Amino acid sequence: MTKWLLKCTECGKEWILSASFPLDKMGRIYHYCPYCKKNTFHIVVRKIED
Ligand SMILES: [Zn+2]
Repeated sequence: MTKWLLKCTECGKEWILSASFPLDKMGRIYHYCPYCKKNTFHIVVRKIED
């Protein structure tokens, strides 16, 4: 699993997601935001660790 820093485009919060696929290739993902408590677009800020 790789940890990624995501930023929600709705609330602006940054949080870490563990995923087994390369999010940096996608640039932007639609994912559940734990702060908005709904699915929103997120910017993939950077990789935290492999
Ligand atoms: Zn959010």
